[in-house]
Amino acid sequence: MADLPSLWTHEPHRVLAFKPGDRVSDIDTHATPGFDGSKADAPALQAERNERFAQLQEMLYANGRAGDTRSVLLVLQGMDTAGKGGIVEHVVGAGSPMGIRYTSFGVPTAEERAHHYLWRIRNALPGPGLVGVFDRSHYEDVLVVRVRNLVPPDVWGARYDEINAFERELTEAGTTIVKVAMFVSLEEQKQRLAERLERPDKYWKYNPGDVDERALWPAYQEAYQAVLDKTSTEWAPWHVVPCDRKWYSRLAVTELLIETLKSLDLSWPPADFDVEAEKKRLAAS
Ligand code: ADP
Repeated sequence: MADLPSLWTHEPHRVLAFKPGDRVSDIDTHATPGFDGSKADAPALQAERNERFAQLQEMLYANGRAGDTRSVLLVLQGMDTAGKGGIVEHVVGAGSPMGIRYTSFGVPTAEERAHHYLWRIRNALPGPGLVGVFDRSHYEDVLVVRVRNLVPPDVWGARYDEINAFERELTEAGTTIVKVAMFVSLEEQKQRLAERLERPDKYWKYNPGDVDERALWPAYQEAYQAVLDKTSTEWAPWHVVPCDRKWYSRLAVTELLIETLKSLDLSWPPADFDVEAEKKRLAAS
């Protein structure tokens, strides 16, 4: 628990880990698991932890420049308004853009549709030293695709194993995958959508189709349950983050990233030149 702020009573990666038998319908989206603080504690703590994340992320990047091939991939999945954008902006955004590779996955383009569904995913993977961020991901191919019957059940049904094998391959190649399933309640989603309709600066986030998706909530819950049941593996486990309180979900994902980066046991890469000799050369120049 070293380096974990005292307001956390449990390590986020443990308390938020999906466990076999956990039910999506039982998730308390308003809860703040493992955290003993309140909203008032969040701004200062978030700022402090953003700095810690930024430092570790820079270290990963520096090591990448020095030949370390490892990377981190944050996979964000959640219903509309769960707060994926907020995580990207307020958590990942604390890092240096040089070391971040962000990709959002929308409805596949004609070119993407002409390829295997993992084609666009492979094209967006983080290179050495980078933190990749997937705003939606290959999981859409067993979520929206399943709920909306975009391909037959035997086709999407075969994808869970394929995704597990794909993620195993990534992990073996040096990418640590942090999968975050973000859950918001149907009521909270309604409020957030309503707010978008009240604010011209939020119209751009509003999509009339989001209201249609609300009618499919139970089918989505079932599809998320299947994702968690079938693809939470030893090498790429899922974390379930309650998101009705944005301040909590942001703190939680920040800690998940910090824990992951720390597990890489990074240090600053040593100079590949003679520091003292360079100081003298510089002074004399
Ligand atoms: P967001 O709604 O996250 O702001 P977009 O406006 O780009 O982002 O739209 C994302 C939409 O694309 C979502 O409705 C999502 O379900 C859909 N989508 C993502 N991946 C796929 C896919 N593989 N097949 C069909 N629809 C997809």
